[in-house]
Amino acid sequence: MSEEVPEDRCGYETDYESTSTSPTNICCCRPTWKGTNSCIWHANIVGKSGTALKKHRGQGFERLDGAILRKTEIKGLDLRDCIIVEADFSKSRLPNIDISDATIRKSDLSDCNLLRLKMQGGEIRYCDFSGSSLGEAEIRNSELFKIDFSNADFRMANISETNGEEVDFSNTWFKWADITHNIVFS
Ligand SMILES: [Zn+2]
Repeated sequence: MSEEVPEDRCGYETDYESTSTSPTNICCCRPTWKGTNSCIWHANIVGKSGTALKKHRGQGFERLDGAILRKTEIKGLDLRDCIIVEADFSKSRLPNIDISDATIRKSDLSDCNLLRLKMQGGEIRYCDFSGSSLGEAEIRNSELFKIDFSNADFRMANISETNGEEVDFSNTWFKWADITHNIVFS
């Protein structure tokens, strides 16, 4: 597949095993960014410009598998309806991020500022949110499976009508949080 990608296009491609639940494999093919061989999402650069990233974010559904947003600062990033697998968002400041109806798997969101994160529907599987700030987050009608929320901070957060399986809440802060309404954690 890579041979067919023109030089001015990002050659990032996924290599997922084909199972009934795995996402289909994709090639990125977005335009390359700032003299790198990759697009703005896949360039292996720490601390990208939030303004530039927002400008390159399309509307609605988008595949952002393998996105690298380490130590990045973006307020109000709209990732609604996106599929995001094996992405690295670690140590970023992403307050007011909206991941409603998104599918996020095997991604690193550890040590992030995710204040007021919004998730109205969607699923997160096999992700690391350890040490992240999720104060005032609003998570409802969602599925959480094998998530590490250890040492995370959920103060004043609201989690409702959400199913959680194998979710690690060790040393998690829930001060003034409301997680009692229709929530099933096992
Ligand atoms: Zn790319």
